[in-house]
Amino acid sequence: MVNQRMLGLGTARSVIRELFEYGKIRAAQVGAENVFDFSLGNPSVPCPQEVNDTAVRILREQPEVIHCYTSAQGDQEARQRFADSLNRRFGTCYTADQFYITVGAAASLCCVFNGLACPGDEFVVFAPYFPEYKVFIEGAGAKMVLIPPEIEGFQIDFDAFEAAISEHTKSVVVNSPNNPSGVVYSRETLERLSAILTEKSRAYGHPIYLISDEPYREIVFSGFQVPWIPQLYPDTIVCYSFSKSLSLPGERLGYVLVPASVTDSREVYAAVAGAGRSLGYVNAPSLFQQVTSLCCDLTSDLAVYERNAKLLVPALREMGYHCVEPGGAFYLFPRSLEPDDMAFSERAKQFDLLLVPGSGFGAPGHVRIAYCVQTDMIQRALPKFKALADSYR
Ligand code: PLP
Repeated sequence: MVNQRMLGLGTARSVIRELFEYGKIRAAQVGAENVFDFSLGNPSVPCPQEVNDTAVRILREQPEVIHCYTSAQGDQEARQRFADSLNRRFGTCYTADQFYITVGAAASLCCVFNGLACPGDEFVVFAPYFPEYKVFIEGAGAKMVLIPPEIEGFQIDFDAFEAAISEHTKSVVVNSPNNPSGVVYSRETLERLSAILTEKSRAYGHPIYLISDEPYREIVFSGFQVPWIPQLYPDTIVCYSFSKSLSLPGERLGYVLVPASVTDSREVYAAVAGAGRSLGYVNAPSLFQQVTSLCCDLTSDLAVYERNAKLLVPALREMGYHCVEPGGAFYLFPRSLEPDDMAFSERAKQFDLLLVPGSGFGAPGHVRIAYCVQTDMIQRALPKFKALADSYR
């Protein structure tokens, strides 16, 4: 007999993985250039050359130490460089001991959920949302409370939010720029959220922590701004990753930042570290702690994502698709052309378009297009989107 929850997770059907596998089979049948796979969020631009050069230089210069264990919370100098970088950008005064280096945002989130969750606690999440939140929150023994999507702009349905908060609310998760909508929360949205959280924390007599999951922080289009959330709400814990900004998803490197402004910040930090220990993370990869911290002021050439969005969004709208304007990341979340997004995704396959149904993101009636692909592929896919739309006329 094995753990039934784990068995369920390990054998569950993954729509994204199935689409990806289907894409490979189809590519063998009709040629890879004729399959338009928009299913995966893998960055399409390489990391900056300096990242590779730095890795090679470190391997050459420090061969005896670079493969050793580091402190569990990460190398002190690396953490200091992360702090210095944010301090330069946001005028903050973070210190190395507020950073806990992790194996990517997924691990950052798991450490925070496990570090915070007590029996009976609830974590509030806004749809559309990154589906792993549910797995991570339930894995931490807590309950996820899902707020339905505000489908006109994918900001926040504040009435539903206020109704969902209770004395059991430990924390609220935000993700902006967002996967899967590509939407950036406006300053107004974040200020209103912050005001409600401040009031509710006071009313219930305990802090409601805001967890800002921000792997797409650097992928922001012209005309949009991503406010530094801890400056708006002091009880913010930041989960960051270099997977997207430096195109390093396979290297598994990110961090948790617990600013001093967080209530009981040292206790929270220690609990995050304890969670990392209990999850067996030991420490994040030593080489890439050094590489990312030495290159954390750089990004890949992220402009391509905005170019792709500028090509895709007006073209799809012209064809009759309803799309909320993305402000960053590399996802678009149009309405499906029939209420059943699963059926719509199936129909799209007939045109060799691989689109992920929105139901898995908590927003039925939509599909996710991950446009982190070559621009040329988008150009070639447009007639297929048109044919798909025409098939509904
Ligand atoms: N959070 C969101 C919203 C994501 O989209 C992803 C990955 O796509 C993650 C977290 C996990 O990122 P990482 O690769 O850093 O673990």
